[in-house]
Amino acid sequence: MATDSAGLYIHVPFCKKKCGYCSFYSVCHGENAGAGFVDALKTEFRKYDALCFDTLYIGGGTPTAVSDMDFDNICDFAFKVNGEKTVEANPESLSSAKISILKEHGFNRLSIGLQSPARKDLEFLGRIHSFEDFRKCFITARSAGFKNINVDLIYGLENQSLKEWLKNLEKITAYEPEHISCYCLSIERDSGFYERAGENPIRLPCDDITASMFIETHKFLAATGYVHYEISNFAKKAKECAHNINYWKNGQYAGLGPSAWSFIDNIRFRNVSDLNGYLASAGAGESCIGEEDRVDARVRFYETICIGLRMKDGVNIENVSKRYNIDFRECYRDIFDKLNEDGFLFMENGFLKPTLKGMLFHNTVAAEFVLL
Ligand code: SF4
Repeated sequence: MATDSAGLYIHVPFCKKKCGYCSFYSVCHGENAGAGFVDALKTEFRKYDALCFDTLYIGGGTPTAVSDMDFDNICDFAFKVNGEKTVEANPESLSSAKISILKEHGFNRLSIGLQSPARKDLEFLGRIHSFEDFRKCFITARSAGFKNINVDLIYGLENQSLKEWLKNLEKITAYEPEHISCYCLSIERDSGFYERAGENPIRLPCDDITASMFIETHKFLAATGYVHYEISNFAKKAKECAHNINYWKNGQYAGLGPSAWSFIDNIRFRNVSDLNGYLASAGAGESCIGEEDRVDARVRFYETICIGLRMKDGVNIENVSKRYNIDFRECYRDIFDKLNEDGFLFMENGFLKPTLKGMLFHNTVAAEFVLL
C-alpha cells in the first residue's frame, strides 16, 4: 500500500428518521449506535496503518444521532489525523455536550445539515429539526470557539420560488458561516421521493427556474463575500473544504464504515451497504468490501479532468498530463476547442477552468470528454 497522504472518511450510518430525498445508506436507530460499531471501525482502520491522513470527515447518516459515549469514541479517530477535521451534525442532535466532545478532540470544522430555514421546506424534506434548533446549536458552537462552520442548504424544492430561496440565503448569511453548500434537489433512486413517484410524484421546478436559482445564488453569495469555488460550494477566503478538494483532485482516501468508498493505490472500492454484514466482517478483521474496481491511468486521467472541472480553479493541465503520462492536447484538443467556443470552459495560465455556464452544465461538459 502506498504511504502517501490521504483523506479519511468515517460513515456513521444511523439516523433518527429517514428524510424523503435521501439516498445515502443509513438505518433508523435510537441513541444506541449498535454494539460493536466503534470496535469494527477500529479494527478496519488497522488496514490503513501505512497511510498518513491529513483530513478527516465524519459523515453519515447522522454522526450526532448516537449516544455521547459512542460519539466520544468515534471522535477519537481525530487523534490519527493532522489538519482539517470535520463532523457533520444535524441541528436536533448537536447538543452542548457533543460540541464539548468535538472541542476536546480537536475538531476544527463543523458542517450543519440545516437544508432550509423555512418550516414548510423542512416538512417537505422530512427533516425533524426546526430553525430554532439550528439557531441554538450554531450559537453554542460559535461560543465554544468553532471558527469554521458550514451550513448545508437545498434549493429547487417543490413549490419553492426564486424569491423564497433568496430569502433563505439572506437568513443564513446573517449568521456569517464561513462556508455554505447549496445543493439542487434531485430525485435519487433509493430515496423515499423516488419510491412515491407512481402515486404522488414530487413536482420539481422546471430547469429554467433551477438554473436561475443557481445563477442568483452565485451573485448573491459573491456580493456577500463568498467565493463560488465548486459547483455547490461557497467559502469565505481560505475556508474551502480541504477534505472535499482532495476528492475533486482525484486524490486518495480511505473510507471506514458500511457503504463507505475508498480510493487507494488506484483501486476504488466500497464497503458493503449493510450494517450487520459490516459488523460481522470488519469486526472480525475480515474483508468488508462489497465492490471494487482497478482504475487504469487512462480512466484516472479522464476522471481527474471531469471531476476537476467542478472547481472554479479547474485543473492544472501540465501536472495532470505528467501525473498520467498522457498529453491533454493530443487527446482532447477538439473537445476543448468546441467547449471553449460554446463558452463552457477556458484555459488560463495552464489551468483548464469552467465558466459559470460550465459549472451549471457540468454534466454536459463531462459528457463531451469521452474516455479515450
Ligand atoms: S439526509 Fe441525512 S439525516 Fe436525512 S436520512 Fe439522509 S443521512 Fe439521515
